[in-house]
Amino acid sequence: MTIMATLPGKLNALRVLLVDDDDFMLDVVEEMLLQLGIEIVVRARSGTEALTLTATAHLPFQLLISDLDMPEMDGIQLVRHLADLKFEGALIILSGADTRLLDTVGNLLREHKLNYLGAVQKPIDQADLLAQVMKVSEFSSTVPVAARVQSQLLMLSVDELRAGLDGEAIEPFFQPKISASGHSVLGAECLLRWRHPERGLISPLAVIPVAEAHGLIDELTLVLFTKVMAHLGEWTRQGHALKVSVNISMDSLKRLDLPDLLAKIARHAGVEPKQVILEITESRLMNNLASSLEIISRFRLLGFGLSIDDFGTGYSSMEKLKQMPFTELKVDRAFVFGAASDPVARAIFQSSVDLGHALGMQVVAEGAETQEDWDLVMALGCDQLQGYVVAKPMPAKDFIDWKTSWDKSVVLAPNRQN
Ligand code: C2E
Ligand code: CA
Ligand code: CA
Repeated sequence: MTIMATLPGKLNALRVLLVDDDDFMLDVVEEMLLQLGIEIVVRARSGTEALTLTATAHLPFQLLISDLDMPEMDGIQLVRHLADLKFEGALIILSGADTRLLDTVGNLLREHKLNYLGAVQKPIDQADLLAQVMKVSEFSSTVPVAARVQSQLLMLSVDELRAGLDGEAIEPFFQPKISASGHSVLGAECLLRWRHPERGLISPLAVIPVAEAHGLIDELTLVLFTKVMAHLGEWTRQGHALKVSVNISMDSLKRLDLPDLLAKIARHAGVEPKQVILEITESRLMNNLASSLEIISRFRLLGFGLSIDDFGTGYSSMEKLKQMPFTELKVDRAFVFGAASDPVARAIFQSSVDLGHALGMQVVAEGAETQEDWDLVMALGCDQLQGYVVAKPMPAKDFIDWKTSWDKSVVLAPNRQN
């Protein structure tokens, strides 16, 4: 391997996180980076590991180089989580995918407001890699010197997680889901919040990956689910017709007794499974389709609704979707927020709505933040809406008050949209 050139001095000190599930690729790219003069290269073999490293590093990574096609969490999922964490470093994608797909991914990353430098095609050519890495200097003013990511997302430790699993720390928040017209409140998505004695309420992004990595996700889901069912049972007895959506980790879809267990917990709280929608993330599902199909089908047989979450970030084909008993499709917010002025996002949004409808599913737009987003949701014929333009996630005790005032304002102004 010949050294094409080396980097300008100040780039030698770049802290780089390299993510690939293939050890050989990690070796090849690390060697190239070292030859370019970069001294700090940390390796991650999965998206989950990369997120944990990003959140726990003493100093933030300034450049993340990731493969696209990885099992469990793929590169698109990973960058979505990084966007949620407001990752300020630069990004390079490594991939064997064709250039059209890479263009789409590039648009998605920019949509997420990430500092995307570009893609390098596999097999990797050192000159291509160098060309992308050189672009880091364009972002040097935004390359974080302070540990901003850490302050935003310090992962919960396993010990803290174990200690809180008795239920004390676990609190469901609820974000309303409404009909696209705004006329009816249909239900809510339950989102985990973790009450930490010193840090206050913690994001699920700092909790779920830790629970998944340590085999504690089932326990966490069951505690949360039991709490959510208690609220839903109470609301049902008060006469509110509502459905609640609960996120289920792919890791839990290995447990054959899960469908019966969740149905039992629901009934015990006075809830019918048809009042519950289980959300499963598209990209992870598509990577493990065969093994999860049995459990997914059993959920459906028991009457649960099934939602395919973050739609658009995975690679579902019509063929695969047809085999799955999903009742709802949630369009990822990357294709909803700001889509009115982004032709690519808008096209993906429109085709997701059409695909969902062709397969008889309810289509939900998530992450709508502005009136413009909402207008587009209506114009594209999407059925339901969830996002800050309606309401942010809130504690259970506030949800019914919020619903009552929403219902009242609809009666007072039946044609209004907000
Ligand atoms: P998700 O399932 O895609 O949930 C939607 C996320 O988008 C929530 O973030 C919500 O607060 C946020 N959101 C909703 N509307 C808007 C909007 O208009 N603008 C913006 N910028 N964001 C919006 P949150 O609560 O931080 O949850 C993050 C992720 O954590 C969830 O993404 C889900 O994947 C995971 N998660 C949350 N609770 C659970 C859980 O109980 N179990 C599992 N396995 N995962 C969970
Ligand atoms: Ca969800
Ligand atoms: Ca989602």
